[in-house]
Amino acid sequence: MDFLEKLIECQRVENEINQIENELRGSQVRKKLLHARNYIINAQNNYKQMETDVVELHAALEELTHRYEANRARAETESVHYAAADEESDLADVQDMEREAQEIAGGQARNEQELQALIKRLATIDQEMKKMAANLPRARQDYAKMKTIYDKELSAVMARTEPLKKELESVQATLPETLLARYKQARQHANNPIVPLENDRCSGCHMEIASAGLTRLKNQGIAECENCGRLVYVKE
Ligand SMILES: [Zn+2]
Repeated sequence: MDFLEKLIECQRVENEINQIENELRGSQVRKKLLHARNYIINAQNNYKQMETDVVELHAALEELTHRYEANRARAETESVHYAAADEESDLADVQDMEREAQEIAGGQARNEQELQALIKRLATIDQEMKKMAANLPRARQDYAKMKTIYDKELSAVMARTEPLKKELESVQATLPETLLARYKQARQHANNPIVPLENDRCSGCHMEIASAGLTRLKNQGIAECENCGRLVYVKE
């Protein structure tokens, strides 16, 4: 086998390995496995976020309760003053007291609304957390089941690709380093880095090879396509 045949062999074997590995990459089991994994990660993150939210909401609830109590105490004091007012009292003072009583009552109504909203939000979060905690064990079981199936698929793939990888290595070991390096470089851009010359064109990108390139190609039997970087060879 000459170098060209070996390069073509490398390409054939590598493409076969890729095809087998791509089958696994696109398999339904792998998709389901990734889906199950993402679900678990999301649920765990949401759960953590909810735990933080609950702590914050409880602090807000405590603060609001204090405000509520303080406001009620203030309302009581005001009502004692108001009750003590009689015809001797200044009319302006009494009006002030009435205004203040209204203001306190308004503030208290807002406090109450806020309290209700907070309590409702906490209850919702609590429900969501319970639902998540109930769903997670099943999601983990599903994931474990899928993982077992996937691992089997993976071993089957490895059983098929391992001999091919050994074959590839042994062919590559017999190639000159510079040629192998050029092949590997070309392979980064194309799955078929070794292509035949067809009607003076690179059959990878279909661009015509310039006459200088053609001369070099015909002398060496192989040359790089200036357009796509593939290695073009002359078919015997
Ligand atoms: Zn080309």
